Amino acid sequence: MQKILKSLGISDVNPGGFAGSWIGSGKAQTVVSPINGETLATVTNVTPQEFDAILAKSHHAFASWKLVPAPKRGEVVKALGDELRRNKVALAELVTLEMGKTLREGLGEVQEMIDICDFAVGLSRQLYGLTMPSERRMHRLQEQWHPLGVVGVISAFNFPVAVWSWNTAIALVCGDTVLWKPSSKTPLTAIACTKIAETVLRDFGYDPAICSLAIGKGSDIGDLINTDPRVALVSYTGSVPGGRHVGKLVQERFGKHILELGGNGAVIVSEKGDLDLALASVYFGAIGTSGQRCTSTRRVIVHSSIHDTFLERLVALYGKTAIGDPRKSEILMGPLVDPGAVDTLLAAIETVKAQGGRIVCGGERLPIPGGCYVTPCIASVAKDLPMMQEETFAPILYMTPYDTIEEAIAIQNGVPQGLSSAIISNDHRETELFLSAAGSDCGIANVNTGTSGAEIGGAFGGEKETGGGRESGSDAWKTYMRRQTSAINFSGGVELAQGITLEM
Ligand code: NAD
Repeated sequence: MQKILKSLGISDVNPGGFAGSWIGSGKAQTVVSPINGETLATVTNVTPQEFDAILAKSHHAFASWKLVPAPKRGEVVKALGDELRRNKVALAELVTLEMGKTLREGLGEVQEMIDICDFAVGLSRQLYGLTMPSERRMHRLQEQWHPLGVVGVISAFNFPVAVWSWNTAIALVCGDTVLWKPSSKTPLTAIACTKIAETVLRDFGYDPAICSLAIGKGSDIGDLINTDPRVALVSYTGSVPGGRHVGKLVQERFGKHILELGGNGAVIVSEKGDLDLALASVYFGAIGTSGQRCTSTRRVIVHSSIHDTFLERLVALYGKTAIGDPRKSEILMGPLVDPGAVDTLLAAIETVKAQGGRIVCGGERLPIPGGCYVTPCIASVAKDLPMMQEETFAPILYMTPYDTIEEAIAIQNGVPQGLSSAIISNDHRETELFLSAAGSDCGIANVNTGTSGAEIGGAFGGEKETGGGRESGSDAWKTYMRRQTSAINFSGGVELAQGITLEM
């Protein structure tokens, strides 16, 4: 453990703020691993005054960074990707230690960081604006995209490093600076990433405050980010109530925001689908990251003709799940992030029972010393079970039957969240209906693959209470820039739009 921490520059006590130099004289926080309760290190939070100084430096760094040509900014992001490649294993091991996901998932998360850097390097030569025909003679109409300012990244614990990289790689090529407030549950991975970015920026001779960090409580440091007009864009990843609060504060000052909030992923399993593929998709979607992904499969809607067989086979798979120390290669499910998450799961199970749901398997606390381990749970429920409307951020899967594809889609859409959905079917009419305007209402709608495991090339995000934000690939970069439309007159005369004449 010490070797991993040391290789990433983590000491016994670490200041939690960075903007060219490391500061943090606020409350000290001991970071404990959910694997076994072992102390990893201590982090000192930043005070509000230190936050102010960090933001001032990030804002100052923007003034020169925005003038660096975008392809040159891309070279920095290329080097960041290379540095992440070099540190891939150590960083993944730290993700596992601090947050508890399996090492193979930790490696996947760091790979995602590398992939988004590669994507952003290409993007740095493609920040295209359109040219439109002008309605006026000898005029040209065009739009271009300019850097926006400081991007405040507020991230959740479950993807402690990937969310930062999705935002940072894109923001950097767009000419923005980044000020990161990570989850207080995962500050060490944030310090490690910031040190990697610091090395890269220093090597290029750029201001390292371009990638700043401010660790502290959401209710103080988070709110300072929400309310400060120097933060041009707040990219918030977290729960729905948190996002509702952030959204209101940022909107009040007419700042921009990206809200990436809770999900309630569902898979429709058709009787016309491949049952083995369905089992694998639902199983990984539900137990992966111990059910702590925004895209986790929380509901499985199964055709009534195969419902009982599917349930029986899934229960058998659940029974074989290797649960334990996520550093071991044979382990499929590690701990939950902290004891509070275990309590939330156990309380949810009691509510499900009280509402008439049947717990078919799992949902027990495992007596592994110092750790936060549970068995994954399946509940057989009616389609109107109130708890199915909620995202319980833990491995509980609700299974309910359907008779027609229209009914299945209505169940899938009948929740307040709209992040990820999937259908397993080989019937072309069913899958096309699912993808049509009459189909899934989610930001992600997959066919014959599960709800989790999004690729960086697409825009990521969801509708309804998931917040409507998009980040990562496709044209999500546009939110990180300001659009400017110009009419250019080369006629030598005056001509007004809409045919308006001017008598002078
Ligand atoms: P959380 O809402 O508890 O915390 C998220 C972040 O918000 C943390 O950094 C926290 O410190 C910060 N925060 C708290 N109060 C704040 C305030 N007043 N102002 C600004 N920031 C504040 O969420 P969590 O438990 O870390 O993560 C789990 C949740 O995140 C789930 O609901 C999950 O679905 C969601 N999530 C969504 C996505 C997505 O892309 N849609 C991705 C990952 C996680």
